[in-house]
Amino acid sequence: MAPIASSGMGFWGNVTSTIDWCEKNYDTTYYIAEFWNTISNIFLIIPPVFSIIRSMTKSTDIVLLICCAQLIAVGIGSWLFHMTLKYHMQLLDELPMLYASSFSTYVLTKIAFPPFKKSFALKIGLTFYALLVTILYLTIKHPLLFQLSYLVLIFVIVALDIYISKHKRCNPKLFYCSAFLYCTGAVTWTIDNLFCENLHQFRQVMPQFLIPLTQTHAIWHCLAAYGAYCHAYFCTQSKALEERKNVRLSWDWIGLKLLYDESKLK
Ligand SMILES: [Zn+2]
Repeated sequence: MAPIASSGMGFWGNVTSTIDWCEKNYDTTYYIAEFWNTISNIFLIIPPVFSIIRSMTKSTDIVLLICCAQLIAVGIGSWLFHMTLKYHMQLLDELPMLYASSFSTYVLTKIAFPPFKKSFALKIGLTFYALLVTILYLTIKHPLLFQLSYLVLIFVIVALDIYISKHKRCNPKLFYCSAFLYCTGAVTWTIDNLFCENLHQFRQVMPQFLIPLTQTHAIWHCLAAYGAYCHAYFCTQSKALEERKNVRLSWDWIGLKLLYDESKLK
């Protein structure tokens, strides 16, 4: 459980979310409850927006489009949650993470075990899981329920990623990059939860311009955002390679891109 933060009041009034992160509320501006935790969501929104814009001019796999749309939804939900610290906005942050992970699990299972004959059963099973967790979470309203349910999907996703990187045509570097960013982010998320008091003390003695570097939940946003972004490309490229499409990864200053060749792989 995250610690209950300061009693700072601002534009959005009382905190009604079940979690209040380590960043001191309304410390930077009267209009945003957690300034750094809010604006760091830009890293979750901008790269997939560029990917979708780029895909409008070229044919792009639907998997990439769905993954990017899900990342943007999580980013907007997280932005609203950290800006307001309202319970309903918290749900807009957390539930899309659950749905996006369910979708990744579906895609990765199909890549790992083709031809996947129980595709319909998998869809029903994952939809049921997502619905069940949603109903339970809306009833019990305990953050740990969401965190554990989400973690279950993450473990399944990592297991499928490892299997695909060992046994399938794919770009393992994308998986390693994604896993490294996500794991490092998980460390900063944990520091934010466990060492909040120490972070507050630290902020009192350090120069003002270095304080953003102690916003460990905001750092989690940045690292997890790029980890999830790389993972979206890992899923898309692995699926295309499984379908014998000739596709390679490239990147430029805007972000990652997949280059499709007309020829088919043998
Ligand atoms: Zn957050």
